[in-house]
Amino acid sequence: MIVAIDGPAAAGKGTLARRLAEAFNLAYLDTGSLYRATGVATLRAGGDPAVEADAVKAAKALDTTTFSPADLRTEQAGTAASQVAFIPAVRAALLDFQRNFAKNPPPGSSGAVLDGRDIGTVVCPDADAKLFITASLEARVQRRVKELRDKGESFIEARVRADMEARDARDQDRSVAPLVPAQDAWILDTTALTADEAFAQAKAFIASKVKR
Ligand code: C5P
Repeated sequence: MIVAIDGPAAAGKGTLARRLAEAFNLAYLDTGSLYRATGVATLRAGGDPAVEADAVKAAKALDTTTFSPADLRTEQAGTAASQVAFIPAVRAALLDFQRNFAKNPPPGSSGAVLDGRDIGTVVCPDADAKLFITASLEARVQRRVKELRDKGESFIEARVRADMEARDARDQDRSVAPLVPAQDAWILDTTALTADEAFAQAKAFIASKVKR
């Protein structure tokens, strides 16, 4: 079974994907972390994530073991990720890894759940269940602010909002694999939902797909 989850930043995809993976015994791939790692690797090499040659070099040589989760979760990593993700040759370089994970998940699992921006449209167009998780910009900003506060990081709320808007625009407007729901995706707006409510709804949706 392959479950595809797409949606904008801070809509709750990651938490949901992890919980669904556990509930349905699926292996989980956070595809955003591949773009984040590519962005951070480009910066570490002294390159510019917006420059194709720099970003493609990093994507082709990507070794995800050299990054800790903390390295990848910064706002700087998120911005660099959306810059490298804008470049078609970077997307192409990361595609095989994602498709291979979906088709050949680790032994013992019943399938895979992948989350990102183009899973239902490009990476796994034949996924058994496709979810598009969204929420208002304001709700997503407040969630990100809470996350930063909980981590004890300093931040300026207006800056978090501006970064998120810029990232949304880059993700939605790019020519290759823009952020759009697949035609057959089930859309879940989590603006007014708790994480538990979103999980219960998504779980019921996937269960209905599996039964058929
Ligand atoms: O999901 P996350 O915020 O970690 O993703 C970081 C960035 O990576 C996104 O803003 C997006 O530009 C890019 N991305 C993508 N396609 C994916 C996953 C992430 O373009 N499948």
